[in-house]
Amino acid sequence: MFPTAIAGSLPKPAWLAETHKLWPRWREEGDALAQAKLDATLLWIKAQEDAGLDVIGDGEQSRQHFVHGFLEQVEGIDFEHKVEMGIRADRYKAMVPQVVAAVRLKGRVHAAEAQLLRAHTTKKIKFTLPGPMTIVDTVADRFYGSREKLAFAFAELLNQEALALQADGVDVVQFDEPAFNVYPDEVNTWGVRALERAAQGLRCKTAVHICYGYGIPANVEWKKTLGDQWRQYEQVFPALAASRIDQVSLECIHSHVPPDLMALLKGKEVMVGVIDVASDRVETPEEVAQTLTSALRFVPKDKLIACTNCGMAPMDRAVAQAKLEALAKGAALARQRQAAG
Ligand code: ZN
Repeated sequence: MFPTAIAGSLPKPAWLAETHKLWPRWREEGDALAQAKLDATLLWIKAQEDAGLDVIGDGEQSRQHFVHGFLEQVEGIDFEHKVEMGIRADRYKAMVPQVVAAVRLKGRVHAAEAQLLRAHTTKKIKFTLPGPMTIVDTVADRFYGSREKLAFAFAELLNQEALALQADGVDVVQFDEPAFNVYPDEVNTWGVRALERAAQGLRCKTAVHICYGYGIPANVEWKKTLGDQWRQYEQVFPALAASRIDQVSLECIHSHVPPDLMALLKGKEVMVGVIDVASDRVETPEEVAQTLTSALRFVPKDKLIACTNCGMAPMDRAVAQAKLEALAKGAALARQRQAAG
């Protein structure tokens, strides 16, 4: 009951990259960088295990950013001439690469870190990839001329990598779709279909993570404009409930998401966010347990997974470590209480 997992990213150690940044510069290059990425991955595998988590991830130590890490292995993308683009409906500006030709994978994207992860833990492992709609929203298109067409082109590439990750022994492939909270009409017309294309043929568990973003200032400001009740999930959960995706990861603790929206995910496993990534204050096990228990009103207990609200990449490393421990302790407390009736 209540297995624990992180949404995806963890902070990079100061010797690997700049800290507290969403697009940090690497400290090394070439072979030294490749080795440093794997060393950091190993460190976080151990930290997650020591904290007592049930599903272990690579902490996204090998990618500079959760979208651009994938794009770096895609042909047809010009990284030399980045352009400024307003992303997530112009919530913030980012320098993004441009799609200039038909996209194709250069080869495997995450083989090294997925295989390292599989080799160093006997627990279940989860691997994250950006979702097609979020990729489309984080790149400038100069070739396809349609967000939908571009999304399906990327979905095919994501599917190739996802099938290869499954062959590496990955138990859960998760697609990150923060853009689903921004473009509900597109989600319903092609977003979920593109997601299913990315997950096509997978026999391992499939998941989608939908959130209100990292705890960066632009997102914190945006959240202030969303009012007392954040009802974005209401527009996309029915389509996800009808989809073949197994698990949905959502924000809960300290958010203004009405918890009853989880009831719209009937039949799905729900990864409920019980750790806030926009605050450095570490949750007590009691808060975590209470958030989990409140979700039980809307999700059956055998379908509830305790998770973080979002990735922890831009956070302080010590804070992230403490939050991993709070996650595990809180879930253990909730389990104890259930057992005691
Ligand atoms: Zn997120």
